[in-house]
Amino acid sequence: AAFSSLTDRLTGAFKNLRSKGKLTESDIDGTIREIRRALLDADVSLDVVRSFTARVRERALGAEVSEALNPAQQVVKIVNEELTNILGAGVDRPLNFAKNPPTVIMLAGLQGAGKTTLAGKLGYWLKDSGHTPLLVACDLQRPNAVTQLQVVGERADVPVFAPEPGVQTASSDVVSPGQATGDPVKVARESIEYAKRKLYDVVIIDTAGRLGVDEELMKQARDIRDAVNPNEVLFVIDAMIGQDAVNTAKAFDEGVDFTGVVLSKLDGDTRGGAALSVASVTGKPILFASTGEGLKDFEVFHPDRMASRILDMGDVLTLIEQAQRQFDEKQAREAMTKMSEGEFGLDDFIEQLEQVRKLGSMKKLLGMIPGMAQYRQQIDALDEREIDRTEAIIYSMTPEERRNPSIINGSRRARIAYGCGRTVTDVNNLLDRFEQAAKMMKRMSSGARGIPGVPGYG
Ligand code: GDP
Repeated sequence: AAFSSLTDRLTGAFKNLRSKGKLTESDIDGTIREIRRALLDADVSLDVVRSFTARVRERALGAEVSEALNPAQQVVKIVNEELTNILGAGVDRPLNFAKNPPTVIMLAGLQGAGKTTLAGKLGYWLKDSGHTPLLVACDLQRPNAVTQLQVVGERADVPVFAPEPGVQTASSDVVSPGQATGDPVKVARESIEYAKRKLYDVVIIDTAGRLGVDEELMKQARDIRDAVNPNEVLFVIDAMIGQDAVNTAKAFDEGVDFTGVVLSKLDGDTRGGAALSVASVTGKPILFASTGEGLKDFEVFHPDRMASRILDMGDVLTLIEQAQRQFDEKQAREAMTKMSEGEFGLDDFIEQLEQVRKLGSMKKLLGMIPGMAQYRQQIDALDEREIDRTEAIIYSMTPEERRNPSIINGSRRARIAYGCGRTVTDVNNLLDRFEQAAKMMKRMSSGARGIPGVPGYG
């Protein structure tokens, strides 16, 4: 996961401090040296590392630590606060919406940074929050970029505004098959008119990128920006690009004067240095993080929460928010009713599994729980395909068997196992687990009327 080796190094550095009572200057310097090395190895920019360690050192040698009851804990708190600062505390803010719709959001960044993928995620997220977004294909350079956006839009169920493929315009005279042509500035301008007419309230404009920073690209982005006057220009940066992050961010900052940053690919085995440099280098807020190829692998960025995740102090707030967003309350209530009436069958069990799956990758969720770093090995070994296997077994049953698992005898078990390509033992295990779960749920739901034996609650 992102930052995992940084997390290990930092928590390791603190472990040595914790075994001490009072801290000497050399204890503190030793820890700071380790922090410094850990940050540099994570590809954090040298300038950022320097000012960060200087701030931490100054504070750690000051009164707040020497007078603290638990000096080591106080040092961790300082590192947490300073990490929050370099991640953009103070400049952080939510997405800026226009007073008069449509809100215009323009995406900029290098080719492969994750702009098109992000357009889909952002559209999906906005739609889920009650908006009516429109995606606009202004990357008319890369072959198939328009098609890619259309695929992403379809997946997110968000409409896409794009020039007709192969339509010749005044500004181009060569048309390759399947390749959209035309003037991206004109497309952008027309998309705003279209959004106004059709009452789309957010317009997300995907623009072209190059493999490296290039003046022609920057000019095109500026021209689009000036034509549509966006409420947000979001600079999308691949968290895996390492030390190049700082120069790329600076170039785009000068080139298009972006208003906010989106970190992409924060899920990869990335060292994450870009994430830790870009906010302090540009002074612009990080608004979102993209954490995978799926539509839902996307989150609002909070510097304080990210800092505590990096320090393995957990991010329970994001965990709760994601759960709330994904959880189908009506379905859950129906399941509760069925449980208390003893009618909970394997079909309901599948629905519960789907709820768990909706929460996204289990590994990612577990990473948000404080203190989980020490269990990383077990977490990495966790097999998410287990849900698929369980479902395959249940789908191999007849509707009657799912409703009433008690009829599943030996020969039925053999048939079910054969049907899904598992062993009878797998089927037995599933049925045992189901029975345990059903029993527990029944107990829990009857407990809702009072906890037996506990005074005042019975
Ligand atoms: P664009 O050129 O900036 O539009 O970049 P794309 O959206 O086409 O993304 C480039 C590649 O990175 C694609 O293969 C995406 O699937 C992948 N990608 C984008 N965002 C993420 C992310 O958050 N995590 C991972 N693992 N891959 C991503």
